[in-house]
Amino acid sequence: MNSSDLLARLIAFDTTSALSNLEMMEYIQHYLNAHNIDSQLIFNDEYTKANLYASIGSEQARQQPGILLSGHTDTVPVSGQQWTRPAYQLTRDGDRLYGRGTTDMKGFIACVLSAVPAMAAAQLKRPLHLAFSYDEEIGCLGVRRMLDMLSQQPVAPLLCLIGEPTEMKVVTAHKGKVAARVTVTGKECHSGMAPQGVNAVNYASRLIVWLENEALKRQQQGPFDHQYDVPFTTIHTGTVQGGSALNIVPNHCELVFEIRNIADENAMDILQQFRDYARQLEQQMQQHTDTCAIDTEIITEYPGLNCTDAEQLVSYVRTLTGNDQSGNINFGTEAGLFRQSLGVPSVVCGPGSMAQGHKPDEFIEISQLDQCDRFLKQLIHALSSDTLPG
Ligand SMILES: [Zn+2]
Repeated sequence: MNSSDLLARLIAFDTTSALSNLEMMEYIQHYLNAHNIDSQLIFNDEYTKANLYASIGSEQARQQPGILLSGHTDTVPVSGQQWTRPAYQLTRDGDRLYGRGTTDMKGFIACVLSAVPAMAAAQLKRPLHLAFSYDEEIGCLGVRRMLDMLSQQPVAPLLCLIGEPTEMKVVTAHKGKVAARVTVTGKECHSGMAPQGVNAVNYASRLIVWLENEALKRQQQGPFDHQYDVPFTTIHTGTVQGGSALNIVPNHCELVFEIRNIADENAMDILQQFRDYARQLEQQMQQHTDTCAIDTEIITEYPGLNCTDAEQLVSYVRTLTGNDQSGNINFGTEAGLFRQSLGVPSVVCGPGSMAQGHKPDEFIEISQLDQCDRFLKQLIHALSSDTLPG
């Protein structure tokens, strides 16, 4: 089956992160089985979702470090979006294929599956590993179980390639992220007697201003990393909710913020400084009423990717893509987790553009799938002739 046909099959499974991905994984397992490739599922606690892992290559080839191809199977929801085409049925219009997940990122998985017969038939000197995850879109959650398993394997891969949409440019770096929810508990009273209460909205606003000052400091003074369009760490408050009526001193306020850090900074250190400041405010509040509190809870967190050190291997992979431009992305991926857990070079490279991801009428250009197909063919050839450096 070619990549477009496979993409049509994959799109038909609604694998919004909130739903199960098991039907799609069973489909992939059957497909791999038909080519005599064993795979294993690594389930979540509820057995409603799974990662899939498979290795391709002879016993001998598998003693060697190979290449790991990874993609997430979940997609973002379509609810609240105005689609003019069906989201879960592939529609072709000119050079474009429309459907939820076409670009982010079932297009890549379709290309990989389409190359499976060639992978199985090739005399691979080094193995190819397929690692498909779940729950990426809600904080790179699912892949962590698979990485626990992979980090126990005797032979680590030479390189992990995460096929998020980069228009087939090899991307070696992206920012890390920490997102947190802050709950401020004050003490309510009639607004006419405001000093007898503790205003949760006021305390939350101090936290917001602290975050904004930290953001401005970085914008003005750095540190800077000029490979990014926004060349510094960003800090931003996204939502805030508090208070119920004008004549009540609010006892509750909640805010959500995020830090997207460049490699020179550690988002967890910034979070710690935030917590220290929150602790100071909390003590002030508690001098008034001891039940007051500020709680900070991490919602999502993933490390940034910085893989500029693996130059030789990265430039070799770049030659295989037929695209020697280096790419730049403004979104996070699982690549930093692969790098961190397995300690091996990890890059992001896949068909399509994130300009179309997460939007209504998401599409992928057919030429992008073609380019990925060609890349995989080159990769299989490189692993059969063992021309990879390292
Ligand atoms: Zn994605």
